[in-house]
Amino acid sequence: MISRILHGGDFLNLGTNLMLCFLCGMTSGDPTTGSAFGLMTKYPLIDGHNDLALMLRILHDNRLSQVDLHNISKVATDINRLTTGHVGGQVFAAYVLCGAQAKDAVRLTLEQIDVINRMCTENPELELVTSAEGLNDTKRIACLISIEGGHSIDSSLPTLRMFYQLGVRSMALTHTCNTPWAESSSTIYDVYQRENDSLTDFGKDMVKEMNRLGMIVDLSHSSWATARAVLQISKAPVIFSHSSAHAVCNHSRNVPDDLLRELKENGGLIMVNLHSGFVACHGQANISIVADHFTHIRKVVGSESIGIGGDFDGASKFPLGLEDVSKYPALIQELMKRHWTDYELSGVLRHNFLRVFKEVEKERDRQKAKGTLPSEAQIDLTRVQNPCRLVLRRPDHQTTKMEQMYSKGHSGLVVPRSLLLQSTEKERKCVHMLLCSGGPVSSLHAYNKDFWTEIAD
Ligand SMILES: [Zn+2]
Repeated sequence: MISRILHGGDFLNLGTNLMLCFLCGMTSGDPTTGSAFGLMTKYPLIDGHNDLALMLRILHDNRLSQVDLHNISKVATDINRLTTGHVGGQVFAAYVLCGAQAKDAVRLTLEQIDVINRMCTENPELELVTSAEGLNDTKRIACLISIEGGHSIDSSLPTLRMFYQLGVRSMALTHTCNTPWAESSSTIYDVYQRENDSLTDFGKDMVKEMNRLGMIVDLSHSSWATARAVLQISKAPVIFSHSSAHAVCNHSRNVPDDLLRELKENGGLIMVNLHSGFVACHGQANISIVADHFTHIRKVVGSESIGIGGDFDGASKFPLGLEDVSKYPALIQELMKRHWTDYELSGVLRHNFLRVFKEVEKERDRQKAKGTLPSEAQIDLTRVQNPCRLVLRRPDHQTTKMEQMYSKGHSGLVVPRSLLLQSTEKERKCVHMLLCSGGPVSSLHAYNKDFWTEIAD
């Protein structure tokens, strides 16, 4: 009942307001706090990034039957605290480790989508939504699914489209690893090194396909060069779902002023990250320095370009007073103290994100009206060659001496010809790797009645 009142978007009567203040441990004599609660009751927060699904995997192996989602220990997010924090919409990240890239990232991502889907359909306080209208209209806490990292789609546009079918409405192009087509802001992983090629042609096809589908492009975790390249070509507004201001804390995950200006041109949004490591590069993080990020970004590009992407459960340390999702009103209270207007804050809380989402949907509709077909672009196979990827070849391919030699196998293993009918040295090394690792090479078959033939010996 309370959650219906909280997220109904209606004015509260005085009695309910007092009750809320009581529930949240605030006194009704604090006019500023009352105003923050009142404002957030009218404009419940849509938060751009939350990693509860990751924590459900880490702590509970995704076994939701063992978890009371109203009250979960060792995490910063649960239904009770979302309700207390006046969160009316939450973008939940389907995130899998970069170590899964080129291995089982797609399966693991499907499992994360499954757990978000279950969480948001098995609890009456939550509702899975897939449109701006659904996000705005629900009286429950809306859940929107986002993929965090392009490694989740294994460089495949059909996979991207199938994720859209499953309800995914946003994707970060990278996490902390480069993909074969886009560059990360991080250099932790030594994979797919870039050579002044921050967004390849296939990466551009990816952005165009996301525009066509109506999937929000998320640039948090991408390098600035990749972000700039995307901003050059995206026909729809983009977001940084959980990044802060580089001018206030010079971390590579944050956004510099010139990029903020390009983002404004695009009509996009930066949703400020609350993680201590990104808001305070030096010293203790507190609510005041978080507010400094908001104030700085407003000064550079205006409040219409700002949202909130808390990053709860995706990072370990948060500022004093902003430790979990129930604490958002304290942040709004701080911004009110700094004379942010109700109009500005209603945008920050939800209207700016809704505007971007609607624009993304409009671009989708425009392309549909034009008859734009799904992209059939494929990644250059030399960029993604690895032992886990089966390569199909026509049966009329002439086998070379080298290939015949390799096809005899090694140590009793049968080598699939699919892996041998390659020409580059790099690819032959890949075969070597398989032989040495004793990988699953004896049972690979791929065929199509008309076109392909069985290619394993
Ligand atoms: Zn992240």
